[in-house]
Amino acid sequence: MHKTHTCGDLRAEHIGQTVTLSGWVDTRRDHGKLIFIDLRDRYGRTQVVADPADAVAAHAVAETARNEFVLQVTGVVRARPAGSENPKLATGAVEVEAHAIEVLGPSKVLPFQLDDENTDEQIRLKHRYLDLRRPRMQRNLILRHKVVKFMRDFMDARGFIEVETPILFKTTPEGARDYLVPSRVHPGSFYALPQSPQQLKQLLMVAGVDRYFQIARCFRDEDLRGDRQPEFTQLDLEMSFVHRDDVLTLVEELYTAMIPVVTPEKKLLDTPWRKIPYREALSRYGSDKPDLRFGLELYDLSTIMAGSGFKVFQLALGSGGVVKCIVVPGCAGYSRKEVDDLTTFAKEQGAKGLATLALTAEGVRGTAQKFITPGEVEAIQALTGAREGDLVLFVADSLTVANKTLGALRLLFRDRLKLADPSLMAFAWIVDFPMFAWNDEEKRWDAEHHPFTMPKAEHLELMESDPGAVLADAYDMVCNGYEMASGSIRIHRRDIQFKIFERLGLDPADIQAKFGHMLEAFEYGAPPHGGMAPGIDRLVMLLADEPNIREVIAFPKNQAALDVMADAPSPAQEKQLKELGIKVLAD
Ligand code: ASP
Repeated sequence: MHKTHTCGDLRAEHIGQTVTLSGWVDTRRDHGKLIFIDLRDRYGRTQVVADPADAVAAHAVAETARNEFVLQVTGVVRARPAGSENPKLATGAVEVEAHAIEVLGPSKVLPFQLDDENTDEQIRLKHRYLDLRRPRMQRNLILRHKVVKFMRDFMDARGFIEVETPILFKTTPEGARDYLVPSRVHPGSFYALPQSPQQLKQLLMVAGVDRYFQIARCFRDEDLRGDRQPEFTQLDLEMSFVHRDDVLTLVEELYTAMIPVVTPEKKLLDTPWRKIPYREALSRYGSDKPDLRFGLELYDLSTIMAGSGFKVFQLALGSGGVVKCIVVPGCAGYSRKEVDDLTTFAKEQGAKGLATLALTAEGVRGTAQKFITPGEVEAIQALTGAREGDLVLFVADSLTVANKTLGALRLLFRDRLKLADPSLMAFAWIVDFPMFAWNDEEKRWDAEHHPFTMPKAEHLELMESDPGAVLADAYDMVCNGYEMASGSIRIHRRDIQFKIFERLGLDPADIQAKFGHMLEAFEYGAPPHGGMAPGIDRLVMLLADEPNIREVIAFPKNQAALDVMADAPSPAQEKQLKELGIKVLAD
């Protein structure tokens, strides 16, 4: 038997018992004769005392032990001497007087200190099995487990069944590049790893499964800008005979029930969650994934500024653009340099410039001051509520650029002025997404969500004449400035699905080769259906207050898509390539 208790179990009631613990040396303090070892495992820490007066051999082993050795200790539980109890530790009332110590696994000196929060991430990832020993990482793994378990139990209670779908499949477009797997049995042919189980879950609806879910791995070969991983996990779900709000209500109920259980310290912004149309989100927050924990909304001043003598404003309005602003509280005193930095930031977002108006006690200041009349200032104040002490930031540009720039500035000030409560989870639904997005590089329409999304019935006829105006029955779940899930009501009719593929620029032969199986399935009695896929990595990241998803994935890739621990990807052997009929071209 390796242990009778964990390192988190022992309490005063165990005093006098002989116990065996196994764990890692967390700390070791050599006090001349006495050696104190804190033995650690996933469950806690227990103080072990090796005294040569009790056991010479055990003491001799304790002398050789070092941090992160795995030890097995047998001894007697006793009360700590009065005054040396540690109330911060669950086991802090007791210690184990060692009678026998055995080294089960010695350890080299670790490449980094486990309690050093500033260790370089590449070193942490290279030795991830050590990194995961840290309490913070153990907490993240446990939290993730609790989230997934709650989801599984909830979905089961609501009549969903979990069905596994293949990893080796065919292209399932979600807007990224596919990972391909060469077939040995069919040289020259490839499986594609699913970017999501989208097609398969829809086919399960055709199969009559009615309510499906899966904790599903998705694979997308995209540049890992920001916070992405080549593979990630979603709670994938699909339901038959539903309308949009049936899906939204179910997921909202899941999250509303789950968060107080897994992270009681988090508060939900509101119940029920807001539903914000896509265009309204862009217009008020400059983003389709708005952070709703604070105000600082965007205002459209185009009407107020219609007759403006300010050239920059005139120019933008004259070419179909807008004048929009945000009002930054308490920043009227910004220096020239601070304003210049904001302008540089605005230009990085694509804006031509940034105009400012500072409402100071001594009057109006700023780069726009000369060109804005007192009447216009009054009208701006009446619309936005701007007061003395505030700084108004204007962008005059196309609607897209103005929204993007001011949306980014809104987030910059969120962080700078600490406007967002970190304990708040501000969930909301973004609804009524456009069906298509114009791809200027390729000069064609792409699916904004994915090609299986149902356009709104009343917009079907616009598909040829005005694709940009077609709205879809698609929705996103957002929280604290992140997109947390996407979903939609799906197309279940062959004719509509075919038309969408055509609209996306696929020719009939291509459609047949890639999606013939879907189109055929829709000819055998397909129920109306819809669903969504909340991401699990990002949710756990937010719940754990972590800055990126790598912290909540046991073995993530780094930002160059490498597994630096196992050294993957790595070259294949010549023999393997031959079997696959593959020749690697040197680049
Ligand atoms: N398959 C979609 C995605 O991965 C989600 C959905 O539409 O259910 O974003």
